[in-house]
Amino acid sequence: MITWRTIVVVLLVGLAGGTLTAQQESRLARLFDANSLKQNIRFLSDDGFEGRAPGSRGGELAAKYIAMQLAMSGIKPGNNGSFFQPVNLIAVKANKDAVLRIGNRNATFDYDFGRDFVVTTGVQRKRVNINNELVFVGYGIDAPEQDWNDYKGKKSDYRNKILVMLVNDPKPTRKDPDRFGGKGLTYYGRWTYKFEEAARRGAAGVILIHTNESAGYGWNVVETSLGGSWRYEVERGAGDNSPALRMKSWVTEQTARRIFAQADLNLDELREKAESKKFKPVKLNLRATMNQTYELKKLQSNNVVGYWEGRDENLRDQHVIYTAHWDHLGVGKPNSEGDTVYNGALDNASGVTQVLALADAITRLPRRQQPKRSQVFLFTTAEEQGLLGAEYYASNPVYPLEKCAANINVDGGNFYGRTSDYGALGAERSSLGKIVNKELKERGMTFSPDDKPEQGYFFRSDHFPFAKKGVPALSIRNGTKYIGRPAGWAEQFFTEYNSKHYHQPSDEFRDDWVFDGMVQMLDVTLGIALEASNVKKLPRYNKKDEFAKAQPNRR
Ligand SMILES: [Zn+2]
Repeated sequence: MITWRTIVVVLLVGLAGGTLTAQQESRLARLFDANSLKQNIRFLSDDGFEGRAPGSRGGELAAKYIAMQLAMSGIKPGNNGSFFQPVNLIAVKANKDAVLRIGNRNATFDYDFGRDFVVTTGVQRKRVNINNELVFVGYGIDAPEQDWNDYKGKKSDYRNKILVMLVNDPKPTRKDPDRFGGKGLTYYGRWTYKFEEAARRGAAGVILIHTNESAGYGWNVVETSLGGSWRYEVERGAGDNSPALRMKSWVTEQTARRIFAQADLNLDELREKAESKKFKPVKLNLRATMNQTYELKKLQSNNVVGYWEGRDENLRDQHVIYTAHWDHLGVGKPNSEGDTVYNGALDNASGVTQVLALADAITRLPRRQQPKRSQVFLFTTAEEQGLLGAEYYASNPVYPLEKCAANINVDGGNFYGRTSDYGALGAERSSLGKIVNKELKERGMTFSPDDKPEQGYFFRSDHFPFAKKGVPALSIRNGTKYIGRPAGWAEQFFTEYNSKHYHQPSDEFRDDWVFDGMVQMLDVTLGIALEASNVKKLPRYNKKDEFAKAQPNRR
């Protein structure tokens, strides 16, 4: 007999069942242990590692600890029998006494280091002499997928020239509100791109025109970062013939106005012209001369690489690569409490710990659930100096990048609890997006898109050198909707972290951190990685994406 009691019970069971399915732990979550994550992050951010600076005793000890952890999990050495990939770094510092002389036969003008311009070099020599012609190239962008090329004309128009250019990318127009990402930033807007493209064109140097608005920061920022402070680069090996700029410089807007006035040209008019795809480069009929000296110092560090062979013999020559940078800022300026160790607990002991946990989890999967493609675990050095360990690996890959299905980067972590959503920078750019959404749907979760595309976060961690080489890449980010918390609840943690602890000695392990959210994220991340390891076709960038052109033949 059906009583009201039975009906209520059936309803309750039904409801409970429904809720359970939506929030059910996937089978993968069981492979992660909150307490192990906690202990590992606590250990890696201990003062004993001295802030994990590349090349320092504490930093290289952290790299050895990571290799030992991989070995203990049964992961194989990933670099021809070794867990280490040596990365030689060089720091370059400009002496501030140089004068930049610009002019023609009739008149010259001298500009002062620091006040008018700053400069560094890409050729890693103690003495660099410049005596070259100036050409204004607008934004200095070649973007086939946007049908845009500022480098019109002959190759010789740019070879051995100093290219003067604007930072940022062409502004959206009423007719074309989405050009160059609309309000978002494309890589074409970053100054690093401008230097790289000019080098590919065989230019001798670049002069970037700074404005507060276009750069997004004041001249003081440019001056402190380039104006006579140490800047690290990957050391150019003997016989390295890759293009490098002799002169990488920025000038103030005032200096730029003065230079254009010397050429009888108006900067504002040329800026206006540069907003059109019809823009043609303009010879300034001026030469720049400068005798600049640099101090150099060398440093040896290591990426850590682990390897796990895929189960499918037809797919195991392809792989998924995980990245997390082990380095942080070392020992430095004391904070108000006199603390000098930049522990980097969140940035990035947490990411290292998560990738170690992913590696360990994969070794414990039953045979039939093992990934078909191989797995490569890369712990990079010198991310904080400009993604140098990742850049080095991407230029000297142990496993061919054309056979890399995906890069999954972890930089930071969730210490605040479970969420109903999950973020992965870059998901919208490639077919990995479909995989991300499938895994989230299975878990009753939603995707949290990048809410600040104008900040260009996609260009600021170790997945980016892989993206530039055409490898579909994701950088994992916390969700924003914390279960049982009001909307915007976590915002305060991020604001506090960014203003008080980011790149400070106080980025330390905290006893009030919780780890259930991290376990949940690892469950999703492993699901995505396994799917990317098993899908028939190699994932690829969407046709219109700016990184598709790096691997046009990827099938
Ligand atoms: Zn980081």
